[in-house]
Amino acid sequence: MGRRKKIVQECERLMDNPENIRNIAIAAHIDHGKTTLTDNLLAGAGMISSDLAGEQLAMDTEEDEQERGITIDAANVSMTHEYQETNHLINLIDTPGHVDFGGDVTRAMRAVDGALVVVDAVEGTMPQTETVLRQALREGVKPALFINKVDRLINELQEGPEEMQERLQTVIGDVNELIRGMAEEKYEEEGWQVSVQDGTVAFGSALYNWATSVPQMQATGIDFADIIDYNRNDEIDELREYSPLSTVVLDMVAEHFPNPVKAQPERVPTVWRGDDTTELAEGMRLVDDEGDVVFMVTDIGIDPHAGEIATGRLFSGTLERGQDLYVSGTAGTNRIQSVGIFMGGEREEVERVPAGNIAAVTGLRDAIAGSTVSSSEMTPFESIEHISEPVITKS
Ligand code: GDP
Repeated sequence: MGRRKKIVQECERLMDNPENIRNIAIAAHIDHGKTTLTDNLLAGAGMISSDLAGEQLAMDTEEDEQERGITIDAANVSMTHEYQETNHLINLIDTPGHVDFGGDVTRAMRAVDGALVVVDAVEGTMPQTETVLRQALREGVKPALFINKVDRLINELQEGPEEMQERLQTVIGDVNELIRGMAEEKYEEEGWQVSVQDGTVAFGSALYNWATSVPQMQATGIDFADIIDYNRNDEIDELREYSPLSTVVLDMVAEHFPNPVKAQPERVPTVWRGDDTTELAEGMRLVDDEGDVVFMVTDIGIDPHAGEIATGRLFSGTLERGQDLYVSGTAGTNRIQSVGIFMGGEREEVERVPAGNIAAVTGLRDAIAGSTVSSSEMTPFESIEHISEPVITKS
């Protein structure tokens, strides 16, 4: 059996166990390194070859994003990651890196339960960091932090261990300040602040493909001073080998972001205002693959062969070819032609997709980004509000 076929089979197996699924977004201010990070996660998880990731890294960032290849074209990518002897299916939804795409960012947030916020260590938090955090928190999506470009602190700014830690602490403090300002209750009661000690903060270099976190430092014994030495002594290959970015970041994702079974009971009341006493509501809370189909479309893409593809989060039920489904705001039903999942950056048709997953569906000709698609007529999801800029408060 080919390698790709094996990975597809593994994804299909994992799809049926929502406890092992993480639906996540990576969100960042432009140029803070989201694309580079995504490429390295995919390469590290074996979904694209590291040569390809390297090639993309070498390309000029000014180049048209459309021409830059796999992760940029693909709004959705999926990968598998083994953590604590259990394989996980990690579905990553891309969020556009520009403020003008605010509506798209929020739509992406609806499909996920965790947001990895990337902040450039040198530049610190920027207006769009605030915007994406606001969007995530409003959708009930849990944040974690990746502080990127730490190599620049070492190589360009020539910082020592204390200065470096101080700078990282400033970024963490600023991010927590933003979280507290937007979601005070969650911040205090449920521990939604990010913390180095809890392992919800990781930092490193997406460009040079290494990262670390407190759990990783404990596991490897590599501390700040060692990291500086590896960088200064031209031993980046070793650092990358001992502390690879994809392992550190995906471990954090698996450990700290909620799976759909944990997330949906809390997220459903945040994004849906229908009658919560119905079986349909219960199906969504339980991520019931035998419940009514409830599918939230977050993106419509065009495939040269298959035509329009509706991608979104399946909150309840199982999607299969031939189902006739209602599309909110339109009359009658649409028939599903095919269902698929993402593998790496490519769509792969499968027989069925159960609740808790990100699905890619053809045949929903009336659906638009934001549609609620369901097997019985239902109250649609809350409309997605566009947030384009941070709210500036006068002091
Ligand atoms: P995006 O706009 O957030 O997707 O950012 P990109 O991934 O395109 O990165 C923007 C620029 O920062 C590119 O020139 C990258 O090569 C560079 N970059 C990304 N990560 C790092 C890093 O960890 N260290 C350094 N020094 N540069 C980086």
